[in-house]
Amino acid sequence: MIVRRFRSNRRSEPPSGGRKGHDGGVLRQALLAASRSGRVRNLITHAPGTREVVRRFVAGRSLDSALVVAEGLVSSGLRVSLDHLGEDTADRAQADHMREVCIRALGALADAGLTAGAEISLKLSSLGQALGPDGNRIALENAAKVCSAAGGHGTTVTLDMEDHTTTDATLSVLRELRADFPWVGAVLQAYLHRTPADCQDLAYAGSRVRLCKGAYREPAGVAHQDPHEVDRSYVRCLRILMAGQGYPMVASHDPRMLAIAAELAARAGRNPGDFEYQMLYGVRPDEQRRLAASGETVRVYVPFGEEWYGYLMRRLAERPANVAFFVRALLSRG
Ligand SMILES: Cc1cc2nc3c(=O)[nH]c(=O)nc-3n(C[C@H](O)[C@H](O)[C@H](O)COP(=O)(O)OP(=O)(O)OC[C@H]3O[C@@H](n4cnc5c(N)ncnc54)[C@H](O)[C@@H]3O)c2cc1C
Repeated sequence: MIVRRFRSNRRSEPPSGGRKGHDGGVLRQALLAASRSGRVRNLITHAPGTREVVRRFVAGRSLDSALVVAEGLVSSGLRVSLDHLGEDTADRAQADHMREVCIRALGALADAGLTAGAEISLKLSSLGQALGPDGNRIALENAAKVCSAAGGHGTTVTLDMEDHTTTDATLSVLRELRADFPWVGAVLQAYLHRTPADCQDLAYAGSRVRLCKGAYREPAGVAHQDPHEVDRSYVRCLRILMAGQGYPMVASHDPRMLAIAAELAARAGRNPGDFEYQMLYGVRPDEQRRLAASGETVRVYVPFGEEWYGYLMRRLAERPANVAFFVRALLSRG
């Protein structure tokens, strides 16, 4: 029933919105390709007006500025997952440095009395996962230290999911971490063909699972390319997670996904505290507040730090309107 209604809504959707439609798809692919280009990176990071766009999606360059944002969100009834930006860690020293920044962030959240409402998100690549054959072990060791600090401060950690070449490795690190820290959150990406099966595996009691559509450029062999298929997969995965024993974290700004999640949660007899919504800092803030005011648990993903480039490009790729905002900001300074 839900899927049938959802399909008919789909047909009435204008082809130019979000990732839908051919033009949006081409733009998205181009922006995701640009996110790996050194030349484009140089151009964008030095363009006048960039700072204004970054400010919309990133809570600041320093931990202090991120804490101010986190404090504001928590005091308005939202929860937070703080993310120290960085994904191209090139050596062991940098990986260890990233670990220490996360541990410092956790200490700062505790000092500010925010750990009841704020956790952190971790990218294993920032903790060394891509550092050759030992990368996974290095990332696991670093992540375990971060989790130990988080546990000590009474809060949690969620492992972000990156491109599909890392999915198995990240899930294996998750399994190892959960042996000591069962509250570590997982992220699954609905665009991957494998994800419904991963949802089944992770829908057990106590298992925190963030479901998102997926933000990377992936080949057709591993991921749905058609946004309608991604949405159908998202619903399939939601059904599994909501009917399971775990704690689903519905990470989407898509009004249809949010409505379907609410309906599936109600059917499964879940109350507001039995699952949560998650959205990105700077995206649909009014909806974040509206949901929280209606009694739902809503967590805002709050990125901070100097390494904002890859994150910003993924946000622009998701929505042509964000690109227009960017171009306007550039022109107004040009
Ligand atoms: C908390 C969180 C954590 C995430 N973690 C990861 C991760 O670990 N790995 C990963 O690959 N991806 C992650 N993502 C990103 C995710 O995969 C998507 O790329 C991103 O959320 C966009 O997908 P969407 O579900 O919002 O839907 P989209 O298909 O991008 O958007 C659908 C609709 O949502 C509405 N919408 C979207 N953006 C806006 C906007 N700016 N203003 C107004 N309306 C808007 C519009 O109605 C739009 O048509 C995360 C997302 C969130 C929210």
